[in-house]
Amino acid sequence: MRAIQVARAGAPFELVQRALPQPGYGEVRVKVQACGVCHSDSIAKEGLFPGIPYPIIPGHEVAGVIDQIGDGVVGWSVGTRVGVGWFGGNCGRCEPCRRGDLIDCQNIRIPGINFDGGYAEAMIAQASGLVRIPDDLASEEAAPLLCAGVTTYNALRNSGARAGDVVAILGLSGLGHLGVQFAAKMGFRTVAIGRGADKESFARQLGAHVYLDGEKQNPAAELAKLGGAKTILATVPNSKAMSELVPGLSVRGKLIVIGVGAEPIQVSAVDLIATNRTIHGHASGTSIDSEDTLKFSVLAAVRPMTETMPLERAAEAYEKMMAAKARFRMVLTTGA
Ligand SMILES: [Zn+2]
Ligand SMILES: [Zn+2]
Repeated sequence: MRAIQVARAGAPFELVQRALPQPGYGEVRVKVQACGVCHSDSIAKEGLFPGIPYPIIPGHEVAGVIDQIGDGVVGWSVGTRVGVGWFGGNCGRCEPCRRGDLIDCQNIRIPGINFDGGYAEAMIAQASGLVRIPDDLASEEAAPLLCAGVTTYNALRNSGARAGDVVAILGLSGLGHLGVQFAAKMGFRTVAIGRGADKESFARQLGAHVYLDGEKQNPAAELAKLGGAKTILATVPNSKAMSELVPGLSVRGKLIVIGVGAEPIQVSAVDLIATNRTIHGHASGTSIDSEDTLKFSVLAAVRPMTETMPLERAAEAYEKMMAAKARFRMVLTTGA
């Protein structure tokens, strides 16, 4: 099969021929149709986590079709359209797993980081990480929903905000453009926070009821005028912008952090105490959370904005994404 591998930390992407992998116990082989290119692929590319088994095939936003089933797999068949996201399977034995908290599994299997991922014509996936893809969703659309989609959808639906509450989304790129759509379709009074007047019409197309321009307005003060946000979903890699939003939360409002900024988030204790506000981290979601994300996306007509490139142009797609020039989500296709 054709695959894109990284030979060692910091090495370039290279197109190689690999033997078609065989599924082991509890695993299936997925014939890959599409794989999203995500900022987190830099973990494999640059060796940012310890213990990455090089040479590795990156990619954790995978959509395709099961074409072989290993021993011990129950409930999945050859020919079923499936995806695999960041959650590539859990161990079932560690303490978080035994408490039913699968996303916090201490032995979580992340495709493209712990084992070969989806920048290839086929990959091996653990059955516990598989996601059924609805017929009405193309593989290029499903792939980014398995990472950026489930992260924003699952954060919002578990935030405690109720229909009609003010919910703000900080950022309008890969994560944010999905967050705004999900928030609006979930029935929240949706506030998009971007930079520049030119983003307003786009934010409104996505369903935002209010647009705040961080270059001209003080978003926290504007949110306070609306009564404060019950939830602020912070999708941008900018800790300073997140810190500044805390006074825009309502009483018992939550700042949910899913963007990764390099600097620490700073917050005044006074801004938290009297109002009972909280700051939360949120990990994406398990395979069933991803399945819910895909179903809701079909139900409510939420779609990622994508740009596709063939697998062999992975390096170009990655560079475009890293330079933030991509039209939201880059997706590699195999032609399968
Ligand atoms: Zn991702
Ligand atoms: Zn576990």
